[in-house]
Amino acid sequence: MITRSPVPLQRQAPEAAGGHWQTQLSGAVRDPRELCRRLELAPAWWPGAETGHGLFAVRVPEAYLARIRPGDPHDPLLRQVLPLDAEARPTPGYVTDPLEEAEHTPKRGLIHKYAGRVLLIASPACAVNCRYCFRRHFPYEENAPSRSQWDETLEYLRGDGSIREAILSGGDPLAASDRQLAWLVARLEAIPHLKRLRIHTRLPVVIPDRIDEALLAWLGGTRLQAVMVLHINHAQEIDEAVIAACRRLREAGVTLLNQSVLLRGVNDDIDTLAALSERLFEAGVLPYYLHVLDPVAGAAHFEVDDDEARALVAALRRELPGFLMPTLVREIPGEASKTPL
Ligand SMILES: *Cc1c(COP(=O)(O)O)cnc(C)c1O
Ligand code: SF4
Repeated sequence: MITRSPVPLQRQAPEAAGGHWQTQLSGAVRDPRELCRRLELAPAWWPGAETGHGLFAVRVPEAYLARIRPGDPHDPLLRQVLPLDAEARPTPGYVTDPLEEAEHTPKRGLIHKYAGRVLLIASPACAVNCRYCFRRHFPYEENAPSRSQWDETLEYLRGDGSIREAILSGGDPLAASDRQLAWLVARLEAIPHLKRLRIHTRLPVVIPDRIDEALLAWLGGTRLQAVMVLHINHAQEIDEAVIAACRRLREAGVTLLNQSVLLRGVNDDIDTLAALSERLFEAGVLPYYLHVLDPVAGAAHFEVDDDEARALVAALRRELPGFLMPTLVREIPGEASKTPL
């Protein structure tokens, strides 16, 4: 039996953000005007929100919304989810598939770019739509395999003894049901050369109730070493509910890491990055990567240039112990790994 510590929710009745995770997922705010109204943004923000929403839909679960300060258009969490006019502005170099993933998909739902590990698109959906997302134009529908398509993907994994790690990605893999995930993990476990199961997810951050007993049953029970790479960009995202979810994961033997994206107006200063690392560690999570923005069309307003990014990280190194330093990286299509800056 997993017991949860009481979860103080800010500025919101507990029932509004509580309940089964799937109810919270389907109840996420999906209307740009509603988002603006709920967060007390002036009507001047509405048209931009509508425009951006037309390009990439709004999606914000209540539990995440509750951590946003109403009436503050510059709130670092709001910036990540509020569509803006700027998204419609074409910017040279900003394209729809910046990582050229379409070229590395030998099987549906499988991306094999790096040695020893493959990325599996376990769910096309996300619990939150992050405006800077490099997959905002990804053809999800074409890459959400059915069970028979999974058989082909699994065949590929079985046939390549060099693959030691399966990375569940998406979308957000934890948007899939525990039944589906347990099915998939059972099949991965049966491949003898697989050692590790990695999950790249933002769901425990935006809907901490996702980390429930059904999830812990398959994740805590697998013979594969389980690693979860969370995606948190700002300390304000880590409330008590997130800390409790991380505790449940660690108690189930899961290694917790975090990747962030360096985002203009969200976390582009030393104090914010230092506070993020400190807060992650309070939650039992180690910083892993700090990504520079992938040049995806619609996200240029989040850019921090390389020189500034390097300077920030150099300054951060003077503030933090080494184990709280994320590695600043860029993903360059065609390279055999992430590229440190
Ligand atoms: C980022 C990524 C990985 C994981 O890379 P690590 O450096 O091991 O975290 C694996 N496959 C693909 C396609 C990726 O983009
Ligand atoms: S959770 Fe990840 S994949 Fe989903 S929209 Fe956000 S950044 Fe993109």
